[in-house]
Amino acid sequence: MTPQTYNAYYNPSNNEIVLPAGIFVIPGFKDEDIDDAVIYGYAGASTIGHEITHGFDDEGRQFDDKGNLQNWWQKEDEDKFNEKTQKYIEQFNNFIVLDSMHINGKATLGENIADLGGLVIALDAFKKTTQYKEGKLIDGLTPMQRYFLGYALGWLGHQRDEELATRVLTDVHSPAFLRVNGPFSNIDDFYDAFGIKQGDKMFRATNDRVKIW
Ligand SMILES: [Zn+2]
Repeated sequence: MTPQTYNAYYNPSNNEIVLPAGIFVIPGFKDEDIDDAVIYGYAGASTIGHEITHGFDDEGRQFDDKGNLQNWWQKEDEDKFNEKTQKYIEQFNNFIVLDSMHINGKATLGENIADLGGLVIALDAFKKTTQYKEGKLIDGLTPMQRYFLGYALGWLGHQRDEELATRVLTDVHSPAFLRVNGPFSNIDDFYDAFGIKQGDKMFRATNDRVKIW
């Protein structure tokens, strides 16, 4: 990839993460003008944390530190991981995109794990910042609300239904709106940040929330 490429990847065979500069640019804004909360959500969660988590998703975890396909996990850890990821597969299987078209939870599992893990890693990092600790409002929004909105900002876009239908059948990534709503509904801080209560559309009972990494 070139520095201006808008992409990032984790390659398990090299145990390598590549983050080109291009993906850290928020179109239309100068770096120095951007709120920290937005940066942690936009770049920290959806890119850096996401790629780190790929090393420990359902595929990446099967490679050792040298990049060889060799199982290094203890049986007990593996069983717990499979139990949690099975729950996450079922959550995504239940998302309906168009008419009766469901997400394939198994095919998109690695990306869905990386989205959830990325959000959790970047949240840990964001909670260490002065901006989070000071808790000042910007435009009436708390730092935590801005963190989640910053992440969502990265997935804004438009797609025709035909393209969406093709992607559901061919893309290992979930559609953009589910890369936001899917993981958010599993994160306790999201509920606290926006006061989500039982009966709200994105509410999941505490026991139904998936926590992998
Ligand atoms: Zn990914």
